[in-house]
Amino acid sequence: MRALVFTDFDHVEVDDVAEPQIEEPTDCVVQVTRTAICGSDLHVVHGRIPGVVPGTVLGHEFVGVVDKVGAGVQRWHEGDRVLASFIIPCGDCWYCRHGFFNRCPECRVFGYGAFFGDVAGAQAERVRVPNADICLHALDPSLGDEQALFAGDIFTTGYDCAVEARIERGETIVVQGCGPVGLMAIQAALTFSPATVYAIDTVPDRLQKAKELGALPVDAAKVHVPSFIQDATDGRGADALLECVGAIPALLGSIDIVRPGGRISVIGVYSEPEIELPLNVMFVKGLDLKFCGTANIVGRWDTALQLIRDGVADPAAIISQRLPLDAAAQGYELFESRAALKVVLTP
Ligand SMILES: [Zn+2]
Ligand SMILES: [Zn+2]
Repeated sequence: MRALVFTDFDHVEVDDVAEPQIEEPTDCVVQVTRTAICGSDLHVVHGRIPGVVPGTVLGHEFVGVVDKVGAGVQRWHEGDRVLASFIIPCGDCWYCRHGFFNRCPECRVFGYGAFFGDVAGAQAERVRVPNADICLHALDPSLGDEQALFAGDIFTTGYDCAVEARIERGETIVVQGCGPVGLMAIQAALTFSPATVYAIDTVPDRLQKAKELGALPVDAAKVHVPSFIQDATDGRGADALLECVGAIPALLGSIDIVRPGGRISVIGVYSEPEIELPLNVMFVKGLDLKFCGTANIVGRWDTALQLIRDGVADPAAIISQRLPLDAAAQGYELFESRAALKVVLTP
C-alpha cells in the first residue's frame, strides 16, 4: 500500500510499504479516509524524535473505516466509521483506570518511532490501531470526516489546555500562538463564554484566521503585549493565558501578561531541560503555572466531539490545503514553510 515515510532528516516521500496486519488480539486495521499533517510530525522530520528510523510511516491524526478486527476487540466491526486518538494508552494501569490516559507510562504514539511503541503512522492507505477498544471513537453519522478529524489530536489538545486554564464566564483570556493548536485553543476557550479572547502572534494570516474564529488579534511585532493587555484590563492583566507556542520567550512573556493570581495553562511543547524563571515575580503575583503535557485525548474527546456536533466549535475551519496522499511530501513542504496552516490528505 501507499504511505508517507521518513527517509532522512528533512526528507519524506510517498512509497510502497507492507500492509498492516493484526499483531495483537486487541488490534484493528483501519482504512484511512482522511489524515492530517500535524506540527509534531515536523519534529520527527527534523530528527528531534530519537528512535525514528528511515522507512517509518508518519502521521497520527486520522479518521477511517474499520477494515480488520482482532479476536479480542469488543466494540468494533468491519465497516464502522471511527476517529483515532493520536496517543495509544494501555487502558489497564493506575493512570488509565483513573482516566488520566495521557499519563499512562505505556502510552504509544502512531508514527513516532521505537521509543513511542514502534507503531506505524496513519499517513497511509491503512493503519494498525492497537488497543482499538480504547483508541478509537465511533463517528456520529452527522459528522463528516473533516469535522471530526482534529478531535483525535489538535482540537482536543486545545480543549485540554482551555479546561486546565479553568476559564470562567466573563474573563479576559489570552491565547499565545495562533498555529493550528492555538487556533483550536481559541475555539475551545470561546466555549467557556469569556468576555474576550485575545490572540497573540506575528504572522498576519494566522492573526486573520484567529479573528475569523472570534478572537481579537494582537500583533506582537507591533505592540508590547503585556502593556496592551494591561491597558485592556484596567491595568490588571489577563485572567488566564493559554500558552500554545512552546518557546522560552513565550513562556517568560506569559508571566507578564497575566494578572496577579492569574493562570497560565501550557500546551506548547517544551524540551529544554532548564530555564531561569523570575521566581520573585511569580511568588509576588501568586501565579498558577500549569503544564498540560500531552493532552488527555481519550479522557476528553467525548466532550470535544459534542462541541463540534453542537456547532459550537468548527475545527475544520483551519484546513488550508486538501491533497491526495501521493502529494503528501508537497504538503509537508507547504506546512514547513507556513504557506499552509493545516494540510489534510486523502489516501
Ligand atoms: Zn499531533
Ligand atoms: Zn495505562
